[in-house]
Amino acid sequence: MTDQHTPQDPTDQYPQPPYGEQQQPHPGYTESMSPRPDHGEKTYVGSEKLKGRKAVITGADSGIGRAVAIAFAREGADVVLSYLREEEEDAEEAARLVREAGRTAVKIPGNLAEESECLRLIDEAVAELGGLDLLVNVAGFQMARPGGIAEISTEEFDHTFKTNVYSMFWLCKAALPHLKPGSSIINTHSIQAYQPTPSLLAYASTKGAILNFTKGLAQDVAEEGIRVNAVAPGPIWTPLQPATQPEDKVDNFGADTPLGRAGQPAEVAPSYVFLASQESSFITGETIGVTGGRPLA
Ligand code: NAD
Ligand code: MG
Repeated sequence: MTDQHTPQDPTDQYPQPPYGEQQQPHPGYTESMSPRPDHGEKTYVGSEKLKGRKAVITGADSGIGRAVAIAFAREGADVVLSYLREEEEDAEEAARLVREAGRTAVKIPGNLAEESECLRLIDEAVAELGGLDLLVNVAGFQMARPGGIAEISTEEFDHTFKTNVYSMFWLCKAALPHLKPGSSIINTHSIQAYQPTPSLLAYASTKGAILNFTKGLAQDVAEEGIRVNAVAPGPIWTPLQPATQPEDKVDNFGADTPLGRAGQPAEVAPSYVFLASQESSFITGETIGVTGGRPLA
């Protein structure tokens, strides 16, 4: 593949399962994945869709967030990258790719399950970038519990909601006073918001909440000229999977999609670019599904 525009058969554009059984400690690292995920490093070609925009991207070190950071930078945006402290190596590589595109990259690690860390992220981002136009909530936590509800502790249920739902609430609330008309917030939920897998009960519930929150907040801030949308990925080849799912699930990841494989982060990023850009000016409260053909609703 030469760039993201060249037509190609999507069924064999990327590796198909089996991918081999592999596991990683949480939160998971790009280096240990085989095959290595494609974040668009060699293929994403920008066209100034986000020229001069200032973006905060959470979970920007790896997976979907890294692909969004690369795409936003190549479209002309400066980027603050949020990630966990133990992900420094992945974060530095993502930041390097942003800088290689000629844009500013600012790394701000922190645990977004804490309100104070969310507030600090927005404060520091506004100071470092000189403002804010785009808030992209990609960070997320899941942990497969094949035994279902009986295996989920209160602490884990709480952590899942704090990381996925509360952080979005805290970050949106802190960012909104800085966002001018024409700004965008983009959240990340999942096919799990519509079709919950029992072993992901807590995670899937948070994704349902993010879908609903996106529709509600979009109406709340529409008259301020701010749009709020979401991307709902299906199975995407990222460190999240070997770090949180059983080996056999990782081996066959994406085999149950009509396109017959897992998607790559590079295939998700263009939807975030579209929702961030003025091309989507009349779209708010909406979700773009990137699922390899599995129906959302
Ligand atoms: P990933 O592991 O590469 O990214 C998730 C990131 O979340 C991590 O890199 C980490 O930086 C961040 N994170 C987790 N807990 C955090 C915390 N407490 N504080 C701060 N940051 C934290 O995996 P990914 O698949 O790219 O995930 C990105 C988003 O996409 C998530 O919201 C995930 O739920 C969603 N998603 C992924 C898939 C998939 O199949 N990979 C499918 C649907 C939705
Ligand atoms: Mg990571």
